[in-house]
Amino acid sequence: MNVEAIRKDFPMFENKSKKGFDLVYFDNAATTFKPNAVIQAVTDYYTKYSVNAHRGDYELSYQVDTLYESVRDTVASFINCDRKEVVFTSGTSLALNQIAYGYAQKILKEGDVVISDEAEHASNYLPWMHACETNKAKLEFIELDEHGCVSIEKFKQAMHDRVKIVSLAHVTNVMGCTIDVKEICKIAHSYGAIVVIDGAQSAPHMKVDMRDLDCDFFAFSAHKLCGPTGSGVLYGKYELLEEMDPLMLGGGSNARYDMCGNLLMKNPPYKFESGTPAIEATLGLKAAIEYITSIGIENIQSYESDLRAYMISEMKKLDNVIIYNEKSDSGIVTFNIKDVFSQDAATYFSDKGISLRSGQHCAKLLMDFLDTPSTLRASLYFYNTKEEVDYFIEVCSQITPETFLDVFF
Ligand code: PMP
Repeated sequence: MNVEAIRKDFPMFENKSKKGFDLVYFDNAATTFKPNAVIQAVTDYYTKYSVNAHRGDYELSYQVDTLYESVRDTVASFINCDRKEVVFTSGTSLALNQIAYGYAQKILKEGDVVISDEAEHASNYLPWMHACETNKAKLEFIELDEHGCVSIEKFKQAMHDRVKIVSLAHVTNVMGCTIDVKEICKIAHSYGAIVVIDGAQSAPHMKVDMRDLDCDFFAFSAHKLCGPTGSGVLYGKYELLEEMDPLMLGGGSNARYDMCGNLLMKNPPYKFESGTPAIEATLGLKAAIEYITSIGIENIQSYESDLRAYMISEMKKLDNVIIYNEKSDSGIVTFNIKDVFSQDAATYFSDKGISLRSGQHCAKLLMDFLDTPSTLRASLYFYNTKEEVDYFIEVCSQITPETFLDVFF
C-alpha cells in the first residue's frame, strides 16, 4: 500500500491547523476524511443529474434511478448478500432503531430477553432499552472479560431459552474488541435467537461477509468508510425484512392505499425507504466502497494492525500513559495521560495539530468498568502514518499535570 500516494487523494490533508501544524487526524472512529472520488461523486449528482430518485419518467430521472439502484449492487457485493437485502438508511443509528422499533417491538413478549453488554455504543443500547421497556421484556448483559471484550465463553454463560435477540458491536468503539460473529450466531441460533450486529466500526476496516457470518441484521455507516454523512446500510435476511415493519411511512414505500384505511406496502427493501433519500450521499457511498475496494480491505486491515502495534509499543515506553485496551485488535487505542483530565489532554493535542477524541465516546456504561470518568481515544485509518504516530508519541510525552498550571493559575 502506497500511503503517501493515498494521502494525495484526500484534500483534507492539504489543510493546516490554526498554528500551522500539519493535520494529524486520529479520530477515525468518529468519522473519516473523504477522498476526491467521493467528493466528485457528490458534486456530480448536483451538477449532472440533480433530480429526485424513483419519481420521474424523464431522461435525468432514469439516469439517477439507474445510478442510485446500482449502489445497492455495489453494497451487496461489498458485504456478500442479495441486493434485495440492502436497505438504505441515514446511518447505523437509524438502522438499529429501525430493527428495535420495527422488529423487536413486534415480536418481543413479556419476559423475553434481549442481550447486550456494557461496551456498546448508545445507538446499540438505547433502542433495545426502549424496546424492552415498551414490551415488558428484559435487557440482560454479557459479562465482559478482563480486556473489556465479549468472549465466546462469557457469551455462552449469558445465553438461555428466553433470549430472543442478541445485539452486539462487531468491533466496539472504545475497547476496540472484535467479536467472533460467526460463532456467536451459531450459538444464538441454536437457542432460536436472532443476532443483530452493529458493524459501524468493522465494515470500514475488515472484510464482512453476510453469507459467511450468518448474522440476521447488520448495520453500518458510510461516513466511517470514507463516504458522506447521511448515508448508511441496514442489511437483513430477506424473510426478516419481510416480517419487520417500517419505522417511517410515506412516499415511495407503498404500492397502494385507499380512504378506508387499506395500505399495501412495497416489498423490502423499498418498504423501508419512505421519502426522498440522501441521494448524493448514497452515490458517494458507492464511490467510497469502490475506493476502499481498489485499495483492498485486507490491505487496510493489515496496515492498520501493524500501525496499531507500533503505536502501542511506543506508548508503553512512556510512563505517563495508561492504556485501557492494549490487547484489542482494531485501530482503536483508548488511553489516558496519568492525572490529567482527558479533555485537557485533548486540548493540548489539538494545540499541536493532533485531533483525537476525549470523553465517554457514547459508551457511558463502560466508564464504570474502566473505573475512570473519561478517556482519550486515538483511532487509526489506512491514511495514517508511522511518522504521525512518532509525532503523537512526542506530544504524549510532553503532557503532565503541570502542563496545565499556567492555564489554570
Ligand atoms: N455504533 C458504533 C459502534 C459506533 O461507533 C457508532 C458511531 N460512533 C454508531 C453505532 C453510530 O453511528 P452513526 O452515528 O453513524 O449512526
